[in-house]
Amino acid sequence: MKPSHIEHIGIAVRSLDESIRFYEEVLGLQCYNIEEVKDQKVRTAFFQVGDTKLELLESTEQDGPISKYIEKKGEGIHHIAYAVENIEQKLKTAEEHGIRLIDKQPRKGAEGLDIAFLHPKSTHGVLTELCEDKTRNRINS
Ligand code: ZN
Repeated sequence: MKPSHIEHIGIAVRSLDESIRFYEEVLGLQCYNIEEVKDQKVRTAFFQVGDTKLELLESTEQDGPISKYIEKKGEGIHHIAYAVENIEQKLKTAEEHGIRLIDKQPRKGAEGLDIAFLHPKSTHGVLTELCEDKTRNRINS
């Protein structure tokens, strides 16, 4: 599979505004984008840290996945996203290894990336996201 880097870390928060304040005022990072992903019932805020981003996730609906996650586990790290090439192929490889796929086909995530999730039950407890920026030049893997 060999991802090139961790594209982002998804963090579930109750309030985007309050958590942005922590990342900006205490960590000294700068939020460069806030985006709603209707599909996933979230508002997201992004910070760049080296090659990796932080993606804060706030639920926009009571019954959204992030809302349910926070109810069960509280705020915290929600998923890890790996930058890959050829995401369709990578999904096929994962499936061949018996990994349960949440998305059999990639879909559009925040920032125009093609994304797909692997189920945490078959990835040792970590909700794992694969993502590919198809607008970017291909890198060697
Ligand atoms: Zn993500």
